[in-house]
Amino acid sequence: MKKRVFSGARPTGRQHLGNYLGAIQNYVKLQDEYDCIYCIVDVHALTSLEDTSELQQNIYELALDWLAAGIDPHNSIIFVQSHVPEVMELHTFLSMVTPLSWLLRVPTFKEKVKIQPHNVNYGLVGYPVLMTADIILYKAEVVPVGEDQLPHLELAREIARRFNNLFGNTFPEPEAKLTSFPLILGLDGKEKMSKQLGNDIEIALSSEETVERVMTAVTDPARRYRNDPGHPEICNIYRLHQHFTPSQLDGIAEQCRTAKIGCVECKTLLAQGINSALKPFHERRAALVAKPNYVTDVLTDGAQRAGVIAKETIKEVKQRMRLI
Ligand code: SF4
Repeated sequence: MKKRVFSGARPTGRQHLGNYLGAIQNYVKLQDEYDCIYCIVDVHALTSLEDTSELQQNIYELALDWLAAGIDPHNSIIFVQSHVPEVMELHTFLSMVTPLSWLLRVPTFKEKVKIQPHNVNYGLVGYPVLMTADIILYKAEVVPVGEDQLPHLELAREIARRFNNLFGNTFPEPEAKLTSFPLILGLDGKEKMSKQLGNDIEIALSSEETVERVMTAVTDPARRYRNDPGHPEICNIYRLHQHFTPSQLDGIAEQCRTAKIGCVECKTLLAQGINSALKPFHERRAALVAKPNYVTDVLTDGAQRAGVIAKETIKEVKQRMRLI
């Protein structure tokens, strides 16, 4: 029996290289070892989303990128959080066993209050409870997390433990699968790659668009003229070469330091590397786009399969709580 993995991602639309090198490639790999449930967490998005006009399109584009990248809907369950409403029910039950003090001390809640002081909604403080419901509704045993997310998972374990102590052993305490996600900086070379910051390179861009985006990247600021020697160790283009043209790294570093290669040429090489690495992804994406309703059908099937597990869990939870 394979262990069950659960992971969720916000519907952020078309994915960028940071998402791809971090979460998506990891999702694809996990499928070999685990039964995977991948959820597009649209309800979580509502805690900070005040305009939902692009929500459905963003769900579609995210799912399409996942599928084109190799998440296999025959092996894994891919679905949208709100399509399995039992999660809201479990969220309410877990809210009754979670002390408010546990939630108020969560660092990300405090950060969100600073980021969106005009919209400190009830959902923000309950976010970790809904996240726990997401995981334990499907009795997932393993959750892939980066080190920064460990406190969230610990809180989920505490909530599950508290429920088990109060009502009897119902949920496995989900374990962290610590994953080192490479930090991918954006085109500004300073901040983490992010759609909101506009410093990203979407993986679904055409080859020409990728070249255009790469050309806008900030490089070594000391290289003001073509003949100035460069410092690849501080250049984000060089860091990206590590992922897309690893066999040429030593040569690029040496040529940069001796000004034998210019930044335009170096960026062209990188763009070629990205386009060649993403060629199979682009081909699969185009093939999936050509199939009418494919993404919708996958998400409908995923919700149906997730719903079967969810209904069983809710029945058990209600029995434990003596609600039926
Ligand atoms: S040559 Fe390449 S590695 Fe060197 S500074 Fe320019 S873009 Fe960066």
